[in-house]
Amino acid sequence: MRRLQEQILRDGQALSNTVLKVDKFLNHQVDPELTMEIGREFALRFQGEPITKVLTIEASGIHFALATSVALGVPFIYAKKKKAVTLTEDLYTAEVFSFTRQETFQVSVSKRYLSEQDRVLIVDDFLATGDALLGLINIVGQSGAQLVGVGAVIEKSFQDGRGKLEAAGVRVHSLARIASMSPAHIEFIEEQEEGRSC
Ligand code: 5GP
Repeated sequence: MRRLQEQILRDGQALSNTVLKVDKFLNHQVDPELTMEIGREFALRFQGEPITKVLTIEASGIHFALATSVALGVPFIYAKKKKAVTLTEDLYTAEVFSFTRQETFQVSVSKRYLSEQDRVLIVDDFLATGDALLGLINIVGQSGAQLVGVGAVIEKSFQDGRGKLEAAGVRVHSLARIASMSPAHIEFIEEQEEGRSC
């Protein structure tokens, strides 16, 4: 997605060869128009799939799940990282290791909102090691719902997340794929190379 790549180059900051800061427009201050365009793009990439729910993880996936669910006309669910006192019903839970925080935490979704009748599209801000998305995929599996695929806004293709998801047979679409980066330069995998299948 050209506009996203341009914004990453303009407003993003590679803090190292592995961590990209995008809090000017993506996961702290948020560009609403770009967010809605991202939602429409995910809907387009998974066009024709009878999706019933969009699933993400709090907090930085929520606005992309909202934008995608508006484009698809279905509800979205965000997995919670801490058990809320109001979540008294049965939960699907999974353990996730956080790449940015270097710690393991539990994510949960109420059994009331995900069932074997659902066809689920998972979206998130980043695909890095894939652990967060694999946690959500685990939850979809527990519910008996069908996983349609995964949409990541930014994929760091030099990390092994995509490989893990594809090995699990998951269809993955990432809107900006970073081949390599350093504080001085960010290199993308171009759309022409990947076609519409990535
Ligand atoms: P993964 O589980 O794929 O390693 O990472 C997933 C989560 O880590 C993402 O949802 C994102 O919140 C965070 N993350 C991973 N890499 C980066 C990064 O380079 N920059 C930022 N800002 N967040 C990241």
